[in-house]
Formats: sequence, structure tokens, C-alpha cells
Amino acid sequence: MLNIPTVTLNDGQWFPELGLGTYKLTGDDGIAAMVAATEAGYRLLDTAVNYGNEREVGEAVRRSGLDRNELLVTSKVPGRHHGRQESVRSIEESLATLGLDRIDLQLIHWPNPSVGKWLETWEGLIEAREKGLVRSIGVSNFTPEMLTRLIDETGVTPAVNQVELHPYFPQGELRAFHAEHGIRTESWSPLARRSELLTEDVIGEIAAAHDVTPTRVVLRWHVELDATPIPKSADPERQRENADVFDFALTPAEIDAISALERGRLWDGDPNHHEEM
Ligand code: NAP
Repeated sequence: MLNIPTVTLNDGQWFPELGLGTYKLTGDDGIAAMVAATEAGYRLLDTAVNYGNEREVGEAVRRSGLDRNELLVTSKVPGRHHGRQESVRSIEESLATLGLDRIDLQLIHWPNPSVGKWLETWEGLIEAREKGLVRSIGVSNFTPEMLTRLIDETGVTPAVNQVELHPYFPQGELRAFHAEHGIRTESWSPLARRSELLTEDVIGEIAAAHDVTPTRVVLRWHVELDATPIPKSADPERQRENADVFDFALTPAEIDAISALERGRLWDGDPNHHEEM
């Protein structure tokens, strides 16, 4: 079994350097895939109300046979549940669907500027933490300007910001802001949903130099950037490959060469405009 290292978040809680994305892992096959990941050594399952699989995630936690304190579950408040009381209610509904008595990391899924309530929603997450419904709180898809406002107006810094991050969109400026404020960067679509990333020449050359696969090079690049990637795979073999990135290191020149693939967001996900209810 792989031993995935952990870091300590700004609230003192532990957090793995790599986790499992669960978007599209549904039904019995989804549960089996998640249990296989826990058997391989994964200790973080990333879900959201909008993935429609919180029931399956809760079931995977129970079937994993792991002590509840050894496996972290992340969920996310959707745009349609924004607001202080609404977000607390949303979290209570997530807990009921998961069949768990605590969410380990609760995020706001998107800021949804048209709703105009991400600040109240953050206050709801703070309240949920005070009530013991969730352990750590953070956000997803927030910009430095939004993070600054959250911190200034509530005095509570998010533990994590989960954002689109892959070699085509390395998010240098945002990561520097996170480092300055002690916010852990978490990378969604860390493999750029596979796309043509894994066949890029530079990735292939670095993979050959280390005798590893292109996927492992990309996921090691995230680790080198101090970001926690959450690759999704339904396949136990690919899950193991993806998590097997802690026994080699990239040189600074290799890290820079991979980051030079930058070309911007791959999807229409600018948090200042993107709406997801
Ligand atoms: P991803 O993890 O970058 O890529 C997943 C795709 O890559 C799947 O098609 C998977 O297929 C394939 N894959 C995985 N490992 C592979 C390997 N070793 N070799 C070849 N192909 C491989 O993309 P993602 O699912 O969009 O992102 C990951 C997670 O981030 C999601 O599941 C979700 O939890 C989270 N997310 C969050 C947000 C947000 O707004 N906060 C947005 C998007 C995603 P197989 O399953 O067949 O292996």
C-alpha cells in the first residue's frame, strides 16, 4: 500500500499531499472504485452536492474499513444553497446523504458572483465549524480579491482553495497569494482531464529521464508546487499509478519546463463570471 504524505493546514488539521477526485464515480461501480482507492492508500475523497454521489462516498468510507479519523471527506456547497442559514442547511443535508456525522473539509464550490452571497456563505461555513458539523473550512475557485475580502471581513482564513490547476494553467500568482496567507492549494483537473497533456513532448522526455509514466510526472509536478492534486480515476491500476509519486523528485529546470506549457484555463471557469448553481 502506498503511503501518501501529509501536510498541516492553517487550522492544525492534517491533509494529504494527493487525494481522489470522485466526479462521475457513481453507483456500485463508483463505490467499488473509491474503496479500491482507499486500499491503494488514498486518504482523501473529494465530492460535492453537485456530483450527486455523496451517498456513494459515505458508503465507500464505511466499506473501506478504515477508522473514521484516517479518511478525509470533502464536500462543497452549491450556488443554489448560498446564504448563511442556507449553507448550514446544505451541510446538514450533505451529512444526511453521506450518512456521516462530520465532513472533514467543507468548501464553497464556486463564488457565484451573480448570487452575491459568497461572504454570507462563508459565515455559514464558520458557523457549521463552530457547531462541529465540519472540521476544516475552505473555498473553491476563489480569486485573491475574494480571499482578501473573506479574511478582512471575518478574520477567518480559508484552510484550502481548490482551483483549476495543471501544466496548462499553473496559477503562479494565485499560488503565491496562498503561500503568503497559509492557504493550501488544491488542484482540480490536475491531469487537465487527460486531454493532450500526457502526450506533450516535454512531459514525455522528463518521464523517460526518470523512468516513470507521463501521468506520474504531471502529478509529481503538483507535489513540487506544494499543491494537493485530486486526480479522478475509476481504474484501480491507474489510481495506484497516480498516487505513486513520492519516490522521485523533479529538478527546478524540469518544473519550469513543465510550467512553460502554460496557455490559460481550459474551460470557461473564470470565477468572476462563471456561474454554477
Ligand atoms: P482529471 O483528474 O484531471 O482527469 C480525469 C480523467 O483522466 C479521467 O478521464 C480518467 O479516466 C483519466 N485518467 C486518470 N488517471 C489516468 C492515468 N493514470 N492515465 C490515463 N488517464 C487517466 O479531471 P477531473 O475529474 O475533472 O478532476 C479531478 C477532480 O477534481 C474531480 O473528480 C473533482 O473531484 C474535482 N473537480 C473540482 C472542480 C471544482 O470546481 N471545485 C471542478 C472540476 C473537478 P479513468 O477514470 O478512466 O481512469
